[in-house]
Order: sequence, then C-alpha cells, then structure tokens
Amino acid sequence: MSKEELRHCPKCGGTAKIRYQMPFTWVECKKCHLRSLQIPDYGYEQRDPESRAMAIEDWNTMEVTENV
Ligand SMILES: [Zn+2]
Repeated sequence: MSKEELRHCPKCGGTAKIRYQMPFTWVECKKCHLRSLQIPDYGYEQRDPESRAMAIEDWNTMEVTENV
C-alpha cells in the first residue's frame, strides 16, 4: 500500500490538494494555485487511483521555474 503524500508547494510552501474535474485529475496548491500535470482520469467516477497516483507523483517531482 502506498501512502499518498503530497509535499508542500515547491513555489510558495502552501498546502496542496488533489483536484478533480472530469476528465482530469491533478494536484493544486491551495495558496498560489500552482498545478501539477493534468492527468486524464478515465475512471473519474471512482477517482481512479492510478491517475491519482500519477498526478501525485508529478506534483512531488515537479521543478519550479522561477519567474524573473
Ligand atoms: Zn503554492
């Protein structure tokens, strides 16, 4: 069993949450609204755990490019 842990936002340090809006699932910062990749979620009705895991992984490995 893998734990679904979301790191804090790499940009502002805010809390992230998983969002769904069919047909996509993604992770978004509650504070600055930074987003992970939007993963097509074909099982959105059940909140497909695989799409969810992909969104979480993308969020957790995302690198932020600084806007200068
Ligand atoms: Zn943020």
